[in-house]
Parts: sequence; structure tokens; C-alpha cells
Amino acid sequence: MSIRTCVARAFCVVLTTGVASAPAPAPARENDPHPGLEKRDSVTTGIPRPAPATKGKGFLLDRLSKGHVRTWCAIDEVVAASNASGQPRSPTLRRLWEWARTSTHVLHVEMISPFQQPAGTAGVFRVERVDPAGQSHVAVIRLCPRNIRYAVVGRGPNSVESFVRFEGLTEMERYAEVLAHELAHAEYFLESPERLAQLAAAQGAIGALLSGSGRAIEPVHQELGRRLQEPLAVLAAAEAHAESVEAVVLRELAGDRAPSLAVENP
Ligand SMILES: [Zn+2]
Repeated sequence: MSIRTCVARAFCVVLTTGVASAPAPAPARENDPHPGLEKRDSVTTGIPRPAPATKGKGFLLDRLSKGHVRTWCAIDEVVAASNASGQPRSPTLRRLWEWARTSTHVLHVEMISPFQQPAGTAGVFRVERVDPAGQSHVAVIRLCPRNIRYAVVGRGPNSVESFVRFEGLTEMERYAEVLAHELAHAEYFLESPERLAQLAAAQGAIGALLSGSGRAIEPVHQELGRRLQEPLAVLAAAEAHAESVEAVVLRELAGDRAPSLAVENP
């Protein structure tokens, strides 16, 4: 498998704490607004898509419906918002957004139905095509509006994360938090040929090992586990980075609003 195809796997935000009661699920449509979430980041596999023709750079919104473009614009407002001092409410998110907007790479944006994804998916990052020259990789960020809207805020069972996803945020700020996580993945991999190569190697190794484990007996399972340690560590490091960035954005957005709330309640 070439690096162009084996990198085409996904990183995602999967919510494990649950989804609040939502309107009756519509059929698998991408226009569904938002379901609830729990919190766990995991790596999932995905099916590579054909690389599209890429005329533009930075964010590409041509895969969004008109309704989803409005949602994207609302996210943009969160990113662009400033505090009383004229500084970005979330400097971390603003920096990532500007990086993506001005990047020579292509970042497609999609909004997806929860019914076509693993349970609890809130966001996904996937590399669709690797530019051998490293100048213009093609990737996609997928947001799942229904899950983001109805995500349950709280720590999941056996949770070890140091922050509570979405705690204290408005609906659109939730989108911004998930976007920050996926943008962190994008920058982490697209700006580093070494990390991109590590990702390709890790996912290739995992795929090869797992595809050959069907007839495994116990000693083979143990060997499989040993050989998976290194590639899984590569993926875990990427998730740890994205979560750390996400946690900072959460604190910036939630913390920025606290003073104004205090003023409103003398
Ligand atoms: Zn992630």
C-alpha cells in the first residue's frame, strides 16, 4: 500500500458519555442538526475517497449544504469574536483557524449524519491524499451537528481526561471546540512529513496485523498485542496532542464568558 492511500484513515472525536434525548431520528441525512455526546477520542479506520480536483487552498466548503454553510458561518463568528480588550476570545482557536485558512493544503469541511458514523462521533479528521512534495495535502474535517448539539456534558465511565468536553459552552462554541480538536490533528500531521510518515506506517501496520489475526490462537494474540504497541502509541500521541489543544480552547471560550455573567448577576 502506498503512502498516498494508507494514510487515508481517520482521527475522530467519539463521545462516550451519551447523547441527550433528541428529536426522533430522521433517516440518514446530513441536514440533521445535533445529537448528544459523551467523550472519548478514538481512532477509527475509514475508506479512502478519490482525491478531488483542488483549485483552492485552505478551507473548502463545496461539500456543505446551504444550511450547513450557515452553521459554518456561525462557527466563524465564534472564532472571530473578541473580548473587551479586543483580543480573540480563543487565541488558540484563532491561530489554528488562520493556519488552516492560509494553508497551502486543502481542508474540505463536511457536516455528517450521526447515522452513518460510529456511535457518538462528533468530529473526524482524515487525510484524503498525500502530496509527495509535501506542499498540498488534501484532508477533510467532518463535524456531526446532531451529536455536537445533544452531547451529554460529563465525564464518561473510566474517564481519564483532564477536562469535561463542552462544559460551560454554548451550542456554537461546542462546534468550535470539536473543530479545534480536528484542526490540531490537521496541523500536527500536514505540517510534518515525519509524523505523516509515522501515521502511514502505524496504520498500515495495524491494518496488516489485524487482517492476519483471524485464525490466531492464544500465543499469536500475545504476539499481536506486542507488535501493535508501537503503532498504537503513534496514534495515541496524536490524540493526546489534539485533546490538549481542545482543552485549552475549552478553557479560553468558557473562561472568557465568566466575567460578563458575573456582571449580569449583581
Ligand atoms: Zn482526535
